[in-house]
Amino acid sequence: MEGIIVLTHADDSGASLTKSSLEAVTAGLALAAQLNAPLTIGIVAVDPELAANSLASTGARVIAVSGEAFTQPRYATDAAACEALCRVAHATIVLAPGSSRFSRVAAGVAHRLNGFIDTHITAIAAQTPGVPGPAPLGTQESASPQPSIEVTRWFYRQRIEAVLSRDSRPWFLLLDAGTHTPFAAEPAAATIEQIRVELPAIRTTVTGLRAPQQGTQTIRPDAKLLFVAGAGWTKKQPDGQTHVPEAASLILGLLNSTSASLGSSKSLVDQGGEGNAVLPFLTHLNQIGQTGATPRHAKGLSTCCHGEEPHVVGWRFIAERRAVSLDPNCGWTRGKADVVYVADAFQVIAKLNALLEAGKG
Ligand SMILES: Cc1cc2nc3c(=O)[nH]c(=O)nc-3n(C[C@H](O)[C@H](O)[C@H](O)COP(=O)(O)OP(=O)(O)OC[C@H]3O[C@@H](n4cnc5c(N)ncnc54)[C@H](O)[C@@H]3O)c2cc1C
Repeated sequence: MEGIIVLTHADDSGASLTKSSLEAVTAGLALAAQLNAPLTIGIVAVDPELAANSLASTGARVIAVSGEAFTQPRYATDAAACEALCRVAHATIVLAPGSSRFSRVAAGVAHRLNGFIDTHITAIAAQTPGVPGPAPLGTQESASPQPSIEVTRWFYRQRIEAVLSRDSRPWFLLLDAGTHTPFAAEPAAATIEQIRVELPAIRTTVTGLRAPQQGTQTIRPDAKLLFVAGAGWTKKQPDGQTHVPEAASLILGLLNSTSASLGSSKSLVDQGGEGNAVLPFLTHLNQIGQTGATPRHAKGLSTCCHGEEPHVVGWRFIAERRAVSLDPNCGWTRGKADVVYVADAFQVIAKLNALLEAGKG
């Protein structure tokens, strides 16, 4: 019989669980129900009480490590915490969010427990023997009468989707954010088992966080809308002039009104290195595409971007796509977008910002 643990951690407030942790809880509940297996939820937080209360209705066993040492992400303390939680739970399946905090320690913890890890998991399902399903790839160490667990992930820059199954245990699975609905329920008083952790000598002192971008934070993985700026924003416009400051103000105006996440084409972010006028809030971290990011958002709006394949491959997980381009022959019009507005993005976004501003009043 499998034993499942979902590892979770607190957000910056220290009290609530991160959204990706709550997504992992949803995945754990579904898998436990399919396997009819016991579920444990492990919490790493300075004070896990509020987080545990938010999980009371799951009916899962809730165990936690707590204290000042777990306020900040740090390899030594987080690895010790996760190891202790997995050992107490006697877990054979370990689900965890693929957050930077847990991505850093999960492989090390799997190694300490003589386990196996797979990352970037997007779906998990129990497959009952004899019931036809997709042929599993990957390691099949031995035949098992138990329902096998099959997990899905993408390879080769999201071009190939694979279904994996393994008999190795414990099996650590790091889940990609945005692939499950975050668990949400009315809080209630939960029973928490506090787990004591033998901390190793701590050599690392966390003195603070340094964000990769200065000024406005424009990458928002939880946003419903992805707004993409292409190189057209900095190109000469029909009046023969560039309008970079105006472009910056229009883009930031839209981001402020909609809380959208800002993506960019490679051409636009590369311009910084060519000594051209650039939008100051863009870095290569904003780049979407083959050599950039593949974010998950419900909707995407591309502006001043040509929609070439190396860029659009990064839109694989954007459910509804729209584009504003001056070029009626751009890639978006050739089947890459659901709706294309052949129009001047300066005018469209100015109008949109005015409507959004009016809507606020
Ligand atoms: C190996 C490789 C990997 C790559 N990886 C990536 C990647 O990860 N991501 C990526 O983005 N690219 C990538 N590229 C580059 C990609 O092929 C394109 O060159 C790039 O996406 C073009 O960026 P763009 O569409 O913003 O610029 P452009 O091709 O210059 O297009 C600008 C567009 O803006 C339009 N425009 C101008 N003014 C306006 C206006 N006022 N209103 C509306 N539209 C306007 C123009 O009509 C034009 O269509 C890669 C290329 C290679 C070879």
